[in-house]
Amino acid sequence: MTISEKLQAILDEAGAGTIEQAEGRALYEALLRLTAGLLDGRPRLRGEKRLYYVSAEFLIGKLLSNNLINLGIRGEVEEALRKAGRSLAEIEEYEPEPALGNGGLGRLAACYLDSAATLGLPCDGVGLCYHYGLFRQRFEELKQREYPDVWRDRPGWLRETGVRFSVPFPDFSLEAVLYELPVSGYGGGCGALRLFDAATADGSIVKDGIGFDKADIARNITLFLYPDDSDEAGRLLRVYQQYFMVSAAAQLILKELKDAGYSPESLPAHAVIQINDTHPSLIIPELIRLLMTEGMEIGDAIEVVSETCAYTNHTILAEALEKWPVDSLEKAVPHLMPIIRELDARVQAASPEIAGKIAIIDGNDLVHMARMDIHYGFSVNGVAALHTRILEETELADFYALYPEKFNNKTNGITFRRWLMQANPRLSDFITGLIGDGWKRDGNFEKLADFAEDRAVLERLLAVKAENKRELAVYLAEKAGVEVSPDSIYDIQIKRMHQYKRQQMNALWVIWKYLEIKAGRLPKRPVTVLFGAKAAPAYTLAKDTIHLILCLQKLINGDPDVSPWLKVVMVENYNVTWAEKLIPACDISEQISLASKEASGTGNMKFMLNGAVTLGTLDGANVEISELVGEENIFLFGKKSEEVIRLYATEGYRSADFYDGDPEIERLVDFVISKQLIRIGDPENLARVYKDLVCKDWFMTLLDLREYIEVKERMLDAYEDRLHWAKMALLNIAHAGFFSSDRAVAQYNEEIWHLTPQKL
Ligand SMILES: *Cc1c(COP(=O)(O)O)cnc(C)c1O
Repeated sequence: MTISEKLQAILDEAGAGTIEQAEGRALYEALLRLTAGLLDGRPRLRGEKRLYYVSAEFLIGKLLSNNLINLGIRGEVEEALRKAGRSLAEIEEYEPEPALGNGGLGRLAACYLDSAATLGLPCDGVGLCYHYGLFRQRFEELKQREYPDVWRDRPGWLRETGVRFSVPFPDFSLEAVLYELPVSGYGGGCGALRLFDAATADGSIVKDGIGFDKADIARNITLFLYPDDSDEAGRLLRVYQQYFMVSAAAQLILKELKDAGYSPESLPAHAVIQINDTHPSLIIPELIRLLMTEGMEIGDAIEVVSETCAYTNHTILAEALEKWPVDSLEKAVPHLMPIIRELDARVQAASPEIAGKIAIIDGNDLVHMARMDIHYGFSVNGVAALHTRILEETELADFYALYPEKFNNKTNGITFRRWLMQANPRLSDFITGLIGDGWKRDGNFEKLADFAEDRAVLERLLAVKAENKRELAVYLAEKAGVEVSPDSIYDIQIKRMHQYKRQQMNALWVIWKYLEIKAGRLPKRPVTVLFGAKAAPAYTLAKDTIHLILCLQKLINGDPDVSPWLKVVMVENYNVTWAEKLIPACDISEQISLASKEASGTGNMKFMLNGAVTLGTLDGANVEISELVGEENIFLFGKKSEEVIRLYATEGYRSADFYDGDPEIERLVDFVISKQLIRIGDPENLARVYKDLVCKDWFMTLLDLREYIEVKERMLDAYEDRLHWAKMALLNIAHAGFFSSDRAVAQYNEEIWHLTPQKL
């Protein structure tokens, strides 16, 4: 049977009519069934040793197109739909995006599952099946409002497995229900994303946006990712949630060990657990506890677990290095506390001279999750070369001195199947036409560099970008109701809203450009500045920054003098689906975090792969990008990480000095609370942004602002030499191969996991 016939058969069974006439939703459901059925026929990756990648987040995105690509039938399906006057893009609109993650670390986990399956590695993701994810973002009165992100109400890829575990809390226990999502590899086998929900979880308790009773643990535990922890009840809920995840995960791992006929002592030979950031860290004491209930001595259990667990650090931001009060842990997981105390006592006894600096439980009765991972895991990795160096030399120097052999770097990567083949079929086909399609497996684009002086190739590359920009303009008109000119420069900053990522600096540039245009100094070509970002619900300044950007959008787009030259668009509810639309159309990739603060970034890699040119600081993987493409093919600015680290150490940065000492900076910052903006927005929110910039500015916006404006101007000028710009874009693509998640995962496997790839 052809694909068309199979699809028609499924539609007939549902009484949904022909492919031509079926409603979009029915057609989506039919294609889902067809694809899921084909995935079921794929061999599940197994092996003597398997990886459990445990993570609070998996930002997997929609799966239909990705699965069609990995099954090798996307072309066929598209052709079948086209013949019936339908399109895959139309059908994908009906697929909900799973609300299982939040940002870079969750997206990384998703890319790694794709790569592991592609490389034939027996690997499963393990996490929680949130009902409503982080939240669904809406803009109301130019402010972010949070709502439940409903995604499980429509047919999707999720299946219940029938496997259940009981997770013990002090005076009750909760039943963990295991769901699975298939993870297809490109041409290869199948892994799984295994997600636990609580049998008692109940979304009906959510009222008034994302409000709910934080004490009703049985009903609330798996509703949201990262529930607000700004109060005591919220912190307790986080601990309950983390423990629920890792207890179920640990029980699953030990069950599978036993089912395969292996003894508990042999765990390290048959399983490796990658702890993705510190949210799953309690799996260490939980596994020790479970092994002890199997009769193991504590010393032996500690050894077994230490040889099984490896930890990935994703951040050096102090507020993100999790520390839980002993009190909270005593309330939520009292049965783990004796083990955590024992783990702490052992490390303190082993290094008494530095006990205060490396203790798991510090003098303020806070339990440091990362420290537990480092002491009791066999590997600690950072996620970009600079990040790992900063961990070793500064942030975790005491631990590096203790365990130099545990530390290693694994620079992040992205899957080219999703971020090029799926998101940007035009560019994908263009590249394949030039160098063949070996890159889909080996990630090697270097032959593209041979075309760097080839005028015809460069012109075609520009034409591909222009086509993508037109397509995005149509999509934006439809989805966001804004008109943007495809001839303008698309300047894009999409990532979580955080002060260290410095969206506020970009906003100050927007103000600068607005004032330039108002003063009659017109740019050579219009610029469209696109933002996409969610702010954590309790992160006031991040929400204020969203408000500022939305106010600027309203002011500028509504000003007939300015809007022909400058547009600002902030897309609502930024997610993977948006990223896939925006990135292929990008000219300028904004990667402007304060040096030393962005561990790696992966957005930077997606943009580079799609032929955007980076405007960035020497932070995270930008450092490696600039080494690979050469400084002539990237626009760098700002203070280096050494200087920034020195400024923190000496308290040498005072934003008021920059504000008072530079009338230009003063003018831009003052505009935040200008008559024009106050008239549009909320003075309270705008004043907070203003005040923070002048009085605190912890992430040193004003330090780099002048140079940012200068370099961005130079970049806009450079855009006018279209062929030279195309050459830069081409060389960026040509050197993107290193950032394939296949490379990253192969490195994890060679140096940490040691799994045997399965031949399929
Ligand atoms: C890649 C990605 C991120 C990470 O972006 P950074 O710029 O690296 O912070 C966040 N959200 C989504 C939806 C992504 O696709």
